[in-house]
Amino acid sequence: MVIDLHTHSTVSDGSDPPERIPELAAAAGCTAVALTDHDSLGGLPAARRRADELGLGLTLVPGCELSCRGPGSGGMHVLVYFVEDDGGPLAAELVHLRDDRRTRNERLVARLHELGVPIAFDDVVAQAGGSEGVGRPHFAAVLVRMGIAESIDDAFTRYLGAGAPGYVPKARLEGPEVAHLAALSGGVAVLAHPLSLGLEPPALEASVAELAAAGFVGIEALYGNYRPEERQALTRLAHRHGLVVTGGSDYHGTSKPDLAVGTGRGDLSVPEQVLDDLAGRRPAA
Ligand code: AMP
Ligand code: ZN
Ligand code: FE
Ligand code: FE
Repeated sequence: MVIDLHTHSTVSDGSDPPERIPELAAAAGCTAVALTDHDSLGGLPAARRRADELGLGLTLVPGCELSCRGPGSGGMHVLVYFVEDDGGPLAAELVHLRDDRRTRNERLVARLHELGVPIAFDDVVAQAGGSEGVGRPHFAAVLVRMGIAESIDDAFTRYLGAGAPGYVPKARLEGPEVAHLAALSGGVAVLAHPLSLGLEPPALEASVAELAAAGFVGIEALYGNYRPEERQALTRLAHRHGLVVTGGSDYHGTSKPDLAVGTGRGDLSVPEQVLDDLAGRRPAA
C-alpha cells in the first residue's frame, strides 16, 4: 500500500480543487494523501470532507509547504504535517506570509510594467482561479499566453526567477523557525525536494545535519521528480542523520502534467509506514 505526502490544489498553484485530491489519491490506490498547499491550510476542510465521503478509509494528512531562506542557490522548501488551521502559532505565521505574498504580487505587477510588460493583475487572478494563493507560476502562465515568454521556464529565466530583472522577493522564514513553529503547533517539519537546494553533496550533508539538530524530522528522499539513484542517495543521507525518509509526487495538476498523485512520473512508491514514522515524531501533547 502506498501514500502520497506532497500535493497542491487551487488553494495555491495546483489546478484541481482541494476535494479532487482525495479522489485522485483513492484512484491511484493510496491509503493516505497529504494536501500541502503553499502558505495555506485553507483547503484541508474540503479535502478531509471528500476523503471521508469516499468511504474508502483514505487518511487525509493535513499539511502545507513554506518557501524558506536557506543555503544554496535554489531556495529551501519545507513541508509541515499534522497542523490544522486552528489559530496555532504556525497558522498565525501563515497569515503574515499570505499578506506579504499579496504585497509582493502588487509590486511584481508594477515591476513588470516598468520593464515594459503590460500584464494585467486581473488576468493573473483569473489564471489562479481567484485572489487567494496567487503565485509566480500564475504570472508565468499569463506571460506565456501574452506571447511574451515561450514557456513557463522561459518566463522564470527572463522575468520572474531569482536574478531575473522582474524578481521581487517575498518574506521567508528560516528553516529552523518553521521547525519550531511546527512543533509548537503539534506538527513536524520535513525538508522538501532536498536537491532543489542546489548544494554539492558535502554542503548538503552539513545542511541536513543542521536541520536535524534544529528539529526537522525527515527529508523528502522519495520525490516524484527524482531518479532512482537520487532517491537512494537521499535515503542514505536521511538514515545517516536519523531522519524519516518521506516522499510524495508534488502533484500540481496541469501546470506539472508529468506528475500524477501517488505515482509521480510512474515509478513513485511511498510506503504506508512513512506516515506512522512521521506521526511517531510528533511532539508530545
Ligand atoms: P511564489 O511562491 O509565488 O514565489 O512562486 C514559487 C513557485 O514558483 C515555486 O513553488 C515553483 O513551483 C515555481 N518556480 C520557482 N522557480 C521556478 C522556475 N525557475 N521554473 C519554473 N517554476 C518555478
Ligand atoms: Zn507549487
Ligand atoms: Fe516545493
Ligand atoms: Fe510543492
